[in-house]
Amino acid sequence: MVKADFAAWERKITSGEPFEVPEELRSWLLRWKRLYINGNCCDGISGETFRTFNPATGEELSEICLAKKEDVDRAVVAGKQAFEQGTWARQSSSERAKFLRRLGDMILEHKAPLAILESLDTGKPIKESFEGDIPRAALNCHFFAEYGANQEIPRVFTNETHTHTTFREPVGVVALITPWNLPLYLETWKLAPALVMGNSVVLKPSELTPLTAAYLAELIHELNLPPGVFNLVQGLGEQSTGEHLVSHAGVDAISFTGETGTGRAIMKAASVGPTRVSFELGGKSAAIVFADAPWELLLNESLRAAFRNQGEICLAVPRLYIEESKYELFLEAFVERAKAIRVGDPLDYRTEMGALISEEHWKKVKSYVGKVDVPGKVLCGGDRPAEFAKGNYFSPTVISGIDGTHVITREEVFGPVVAIYPFKDESEAVREANATPYGLSACVWTKDKSRAERVSRDLRTGLVWVNSWLVRDLRVPFGGQKRSGVGREGGDFSLDFYGEWKSVCTSNG
Ligand code: NAD
Repeated sequence: MVKADFAAWERKITSGEPFEVPEELRSWLLRWKRLYINGNCCDGISGETFRTFNPATGEELSEICLAKKEDVDRAVVAGKQAFEQGTWARQSSSERAKFLRRLGDMILEHKAPLAILESLDTGKPIKESFEGDIPRAALNCHFFAEYGANQEIPRVFTNETHTHTTFREPVGVVALITPWNLPLYLETWKLAPALVMGNSVVLKPSELTPLTAAYLAELIHELNLPPGVFNLVQGLGEQSTGEHLVSHAGVDAISFTGETGTGRAIMKAASVGPTRVSFELGGKSAAIVFADAPWELLLNESLRAAFRNQGEICLAVPRLYIEESKYELFLEAFVERAKAIRVGDPLDYRTEMGALISEEHWKKVKSYVGKVDVPGKVLCGGDRPAEFAKGNYFSPTVISGIDGTHVITREEVFGPVVAIYPFKDESEAVREANATPYGLSACVWTKDKSRAERVSRDLRTGLVWVNSWLVRDLRVPFGGQKRSGVGREGGDFSLDFYGEWKSVCTSNG
């Protein structure tokens, strides 16, 4: 674990002056990142490793042990043994909540190194890691420590002859598979409820962003969790670590966040059990903007919804449907603001948009933009900003003149690319907004409350924001309709997924 004056690091990060990665963190990065199995840091059995690269510079960041099938097996078996031994699983949830509270506190104490690592690994602006991702990771732990404590209090149903006592039990060994766009944020979103419910977990982070999970394992080690309750395997997905994990017969539940296509493959693997799954998948959210929308708020939030985290957010809003009478005005104002977004070094606190995750992803985003042809127009962006010779930087991109059949309208680009469309009336807007296979979230912009309510009900998405975006309450069900997900997480929905309801029926006689 890194030891240093983190308060001084925080001052440096937030000063807005360029800063170097501190020496202590550089040496941490140089150390080979190991797996964490059965309470021990260990190498993979094969000795194979993989490397990660800084999206902003292309430089190598770190070398990570690759978990092969045998390592995944060791992790699942360790989880199973810990579960059966019961030191963790049979503790009360309020005892387990104490661990989560301490973990949340520790994440906050280590906010500076974690934020630097997250930005180095993902390319996202440090302001976002420091003020967004890492505090949210701590909040996930604190929230489920409160929400999940005392969850085992039974519900009792009595009639003249019998009493039915129902309560939740942990499921067993849970596989947690996470993507690269919000690494620690999503890892803790799954880890915290899984642990408070008394499960053992095997976490497999994205191979593109393994660093904060490696750091997390070191924090967890300090907190003396019983061996085998938390295991970390690092590696790739298909035909590698991820696939071995979701196909393992010892896994009792799989919580996955990632692409819809990967969800399909995991569903197939899980069908062998069958193993219970919770999927948070891709999105292609739309905003419907009526002429009476609150203008300044609309522009600010739509800009954030389009370009925050380089557009690499499942909940990003890359389709904007604008009522005809305001279309030209909106287009002009939006493009002007998009051009003013400060793209730059992820470690500069003033940066508003960093670099895309990988060169491969950069090429994918570029190829989508290349498919815009007449009458479509790329109004701004569409390429690497001229001032960057290297790094996966991509300018905020605004497109107009394409219709509902265009690939950019239908498919998830997952980058800073937004298309804007005019609409004539409410029913056309709803029809167009619903016309993708995805159904994660949507925004409705209007001051007319009854219209907002009507349109919200007509939209086939798991979440709708009215005159807002990305406002979350962790008690609220989170998840997508259609191809954007299977199941819901958050609050009770997470406790239900990571728990098994049991009913005991006793004769009153
Ligand atoms: P991805 O599906 O490529 O990878 C996600 C994880 O799955 C990685 O850890 C990967 O190694 C693993 N994986 C890949 N193939 C696997 C297989 N066959 N078996 C087991 N594991 C496998 O996704 P990504 O590119 O890392 O992330 C971007 C995607 O995630 C986007 O589609 C985005 O919308 C989605 N996402 C959704 C949400 C949500 O809450 N709905 C949140 C964040 C990201």
